[in-house]
Amino acid sequence: MAKPLIVARDLSIIYNQGKQNEFKALSGVSTDIFEGEYIILFGPSGCGKSTLMYSIQGSLPPGEGTLLIRGDDVYAYPPADRVYFQRHVMGIIFQQFNLIPSLSVLDNVALPMIFCDEDKATRNRRSQTLLDRFGVGQVSHKIPAMLSGGQQQRVSVSRSMVNDPKILLADEPTGNLDSVSTQQVMDKIDEINTFDRRTIIMVSHNAAHLSYAHRVYYLKDGKVVREVVNPQRKQIKPVKEGETIVTELEQLARLFPYDSIETLRVKSLVNYLTQDFTFDQIVRLERSTGFFIQGKMDRDAYIKSLILPLEKGGVQVEEKEARRMASIATKMIDNSDDIRRYRARKDNAGIFFSQHKLAERLSEHLAEVYRIKLSKEQRENMTEVVADRVTGVIDEDEMNERMMQGIRAGGLALSEREADDLSRYFEKVIAQGVDVSYKN
Ligand code: ADP
Repeated sequence: MAKPLIVARDLSIIYNQGKQNEFKALSGVSTDIFEGEYIILFGPSGCGKSTLMYSIQGSLPPGEGTLLIRGDDVYAYPPADRVYFQRHVMGIIFQQFNLIPSLSVLDNVALPMIFCDEDKATRNRRSQTLLDRFGVGQVSHKIPAMLSGGQQQRVSVSRSMVNDPKILLADEPTGNLDSVSTQQVMDKIDEINTFDRRTIIMVSHNAAHLSYAHRVYYLKDGKVVREVVNPQRKQIKPVKEGETIVTELEQLARLFPYDSIETLRVKSLVNYLTQDFTFDQIVRLERSTGFFIQGKMDRDAYIKSLILPLEKGGVQVEEKEARRMASIATKMIDNSDDIRRYRARKDNAGIFFSQHKLAERLSEHLAEVYRIKLSKEQRENMTEVVADRVTGVIDEDEMNERMMQGIRAGGLALSEREADDLSRYFEKVIAQGVDVSYKN
């Protein structure tokens, strides 16, 4: 299996250590970043995103824990090697561009090459080629102040690539740009990832950027609070059984990046229960469902709150509908407990259930909900498929396909409609049973 390019283990960074104003900006951070990945460090201002990035860049030594880049502790390098590392392995783009005002655009880009063996003409040629590529070739003779913000940032993208670095770091690169320039810069960075296959680590607090990344590390108060896989990008980080699973919750987490896992669970379940509800009804239903998921309301109280008229704070649905909703919610929550047990690993789960038994129970539940009669072979295959999905070995689409495949091929031979219904429902159950964070 490929080794990660960057490994942080229990990394802590302390500013002003030993002084009165000592401040722990990162605490116990662990990350594995693989070659070619596009990673976003996301979170509110002051949560430690830049600290983590500059630590990877070789400018902030770990206070505690380890940080290895390509297997090396770069902080143990002799000074000359560290400078080489920062100049040739890492490229960097800053929010404020950091171009030198008195130099021409071309000289700004060529500057990091000054200590190379190449002659000036070669350095200039390479710089001009990059400026052309990033759409600012025509202004190479100007000084930075004559350029727009978007152009200046594309100059700094060119500069960051001039020594052909393996890893490109970007510190809020669009923080000072308008929406058109933002799009241009984001597209260029995306191209560097997908076309040049460089590893990208970007600091951002713009939720609109998350869709570019393979994975997002969410930081809060100096800790990684969750790690979310972007289901729309083919993953580079090898998926280990039991480690990751792309769930609806992860998709919701991208839409609602600042919401807690509990809130996302509520959204997932409420999405399923509502069809033609008004906004007011949805808000009420979310509130009641939240109490129900947390166990603060029992089933009877939940049903009552659903029936209660709007003016009394209820959701105002028919009693029959309320009972149907409570029944679905209860079943989902119960079955999600099985998913949680399954994923709690054999040593835990083994006390009460074998893994197989849990997968069997889940697949029986699925068949029961959709009143599908299954043969012995189908039941066995279903158990396999369910186990594969719960451990994240297959994604939702692959599960869907397996359910439609022939029985001999390990499938269930279900119709497209049956497979769709089953997998849609099952994704909901998984969303209730699996945390967005893998770090449990
Ligand atoms: P972010 O990039 O998420 O906005 P930073 O990594 O820049 O956050 O900062 C994390 C915390 O560390 C903040 O509270 C910030 O005030 C503090 N901090 C950053 N740099 C220094 C420094 N050089 N000395 C002391 N504290 C710092």
